[in-house]
Amino acid sequence: MFNPQAIRADFPILKRKVNGQPLIYFDNAATTQKPQQVIDAQRDFYENHNANVHRAVHTLSQEATDRYENARETVARFIGAKESAEIVFVRGTTEAINLVAYGWGLPNLKSGDEVLVSLMEHHSNIVPWELIAKLTGCTVKYGKVHPDGTLDTADFVGKLTKNTKLASLSQVSNVSGIINDVKHIAKIAHEHDALMLVDGAQSVPHMPVNVTDLDADFLTFSGHKMLGPTGIGALYAKKQLLEKMAPFQGGGEMIREVTLNPQTERCGITWNDPPWKFEAGTPNICGGVILAEAAKYLQKLGMAEVFQHEKELTAYAMEQMLSCCTKLKLYGTTDVSLKCGIMPFGVEGLSSHDVALFLDNYGIMIRSGYHCAQPLHQIFKLQSSARASFYIYNTKEEVDRFVEVLKEVEQF
Ligand code: PLP
Repeated sequence: MFNPQAIRADFPILKRKVNGQPLIYFDNAATTQKPQQVIDAQRDFYENHNANVHRAVHTLSQEATDRYENARETVARFIGAKESAEIVFVRGTTEAINLVAYGWGLPNLKSGDEVLVSLMEHHSNIVPWELIAKLTGCTVKYGKVHPDGTLDTADFVGKLTKNTKLASLSQVSNVSGIINDVKHIAKIAHEHDALMLVDGAQSVPHMPVNVTDLDADFLTFSGHKMLGPTGIGALYAKKQLLEKMAPFQGGGEMIREVTLNPQTERCGITWNDPPWKFEAGTPNICGGVILAEAAKYLQKLGMAEVFQHEKELTAYAMEQMLSCCTKLKLYGTTDVSLKCGIMPFGVEGLSSHDVALFLDNYGIMIRSGYHCAQPLHQIFKLQSSARASFYIYNTKEEVDRFVEVLKEVEQF
């Protein structure tokens, strides 16, 4: 049975106090805390198995390589990929989307082609495509979002044309927590011969995600948002796409051979097989190993249970906030069946930073600002919002304390 109190015991940071108050961490959409199991696994790697991968015949290198490649296998299983060769380790979601933009988009897109994103995207699913549009002459189109933050699916689907080469959409909005039916969109995108990229930064850590079931061509996510370290994440891509894609960066390990042609005095290069073709230089070896530990921790809890816990907490928090606070406004839909555990809100007469600073005085960490999603804030007619976001270790008691302090914020 899912037991947040027992889970909390695994997270050393939750024992600390901030400003003399017990820490309440509600900034999980930005990054998550780490369980002892993940911290220990990192220590174990550096204490016992550290070496560079793929390059040496010695024992430590073999151990590091085995751990790194087994981690790829674990991550592949976690998201339902058919094989580990479909997982490229990257720095995080941002690098994964840039890899697709430069590795697939740059060589394949041209004037007249279209990439379709939505207006609820994180900037990391907008800016790379605008950069590629400048380089290739293709057009970036934006699917509309309703005033309640839900995707205007009819508009999005209507913007898929014979010119659309890629639809790129977040499965969960990092501002509103709204869940998009990416399986349905992928099906329609494929009917238009377009590829489908799913930004899973806010879904993979919080709900069951199976790329094979979604039939996504690309899926991106970040380790630090799912109990793992910063500087590691993954790009899932269908193997046949990775085989055709150009490398994103050049360097060691991503090549099979670099040979000098004495006649031309130039080097001829052949690429390594995917996924190594996309992992130039020494990768974040320990990061990959630890990401797998984080995935195993979540798998043990059960992703359906994680999702259910966050939904229950969100429903409870929204109900408490709306019934106990008079100057508070929740942004986006309050229909919890459309959401997971992210809640944007504001307090009349106060900026989002004032609200966050006030809560910080009471040891409560939330996010304030536009959360790298300015177009969505334009739709909400806001400069910024306060955002509380939940994870496995958050409890109803913490929500009660949060609401109690919010009532004081209102008097400020
Ligand atoms: N996409 C979404 C939906 C996000 O929430 C985030 C981060 O908040 C990103 C992309 C970028 O992730 P990262 O900063 O880990 O690369």
